[in-house]
Amino acid sequence: MGQYLKFWGTRGSCPVSGPQYRKFGGNTSCLELRYGDSLILIDAGTGIRPLGKQLAQEGIREIHILFSHMHWDHLLGFPFFQPIYEEDVQITIWAPHGEGRSPDELFKELFSQEFFPVSFDQLKAKLVFRTICEKEPIAIGSLQIDFHPARHPYKTFCFKISTPHQVIGYASDNELCSPFNPEDHASLIEFFRHSTLFIHEAQYNVKEHVEKEGWGHSCTLGVLLLVEHLQPGKWLVVHHDPEHTDTDLKALRKETKKVLRKKHIDCPVEWVVDGTVLELK
Ligand SMILES: [Zn+2]
Ligand SMILES: [Zn+2]
Repeated sequence: MGQYLKFWGTRGSCPVSGPQYRKFGGNTSCLELRYGDSLILIDAGTGIRPLGKQLAQEGIREIHILFSHMHWDHLLGFPFFQPIYEEDVQITIWAPHGEGRSPDELFKELFSQEFFPVSFDQLKAKLVFRTICEKEPIAIGSLQIDFHPARHPYKTFCFKISTPHQVIGYASDNELCSPFNPEDHASLIEFFRHSTLFIHEAQYNVKEHVEKEGWGHSCTLGVLLLVEHLQPGKWLVVHHDPEHTDTDLKALRKETKKVLRKKHIDCPVEWVVDGTVLELK
C-alpha cells in the first residue's frame, strides 16, 4: 500500500470553488493515511468523494474513518463516499460521543429521506461504530492513535498518530486562548510534544480572531506561539477559512514565516493545498 499521508480536503467550515481558490483548493477536511496494510481516513469532508472513487477502483475492503467531531464540514462527503455502496466492505467509524445523540444515531439521521435519497438501510457496506475517548488510545495495525479534547463547540478531539518512526499531531478545529499563554494549554503541549509532523489549523488572522472569539478556531499568532513550545519537525496549516482566497492565504503564510524568523523559531511551516502527499517513515 505504501506509506504516506494525502490531504484530499484542506478547506474548513464550507467548501468553496472559483478561480480565487484555485491554488489551495475547495474541498473540506479529509486526510488519507496509509501505513503497511492499514488505511485510515481522518474526517469525511467533501475531499472524501474523489478518494472514495479511487478506493473503490482499488477494491479496498477494510477502512477506518476517524472523526474529530461531527460538524458538517467533516461529514458532508460521507453520503458520496463510493465504498459505502460496495458489498463486502467494512468501514469502522471512530467518533466522539457527547451528551447528545450517538454517532450511529446521527448517521442514520444523515440518511433520512428529508436529507438524502438513499436510506441508511440501503447502504451495502458494513458500518461499525466505535466511540473514541480521552486517555483510551487505539491501535490500528502498527499505528497507535491517542486523543485529546479540542477547544471547539461540542465534543471534539485532537489526534496523535504514532508510527514506529514518527509522530503526527492533528488538530483541525481547536481554538487556542488569546492571548496565548502556555499555562492554559499545558496538557495539549504535553500531548503534542515530539510531533514530527504537526497539523494544526490557523483559520484566522489576529483581527479576525477578535471578531470570532468562541467560534472554535485559532489565529496564526496563537498557533505560532504553541509551535514555539512544541518545536515540531514541521507545522502544516489546514482548515483554511472559506473567506480566504489564494491571495489571502499566501499573505498569511508570508506574514507567519516572517514572525517565525523574527522570533528565531526554527520550524518550517506550510499552508497545505488539496492533493498534497507526504511520504511517511
Ligand atoms: Zn471544521
Ligand atoms: Zn467544527
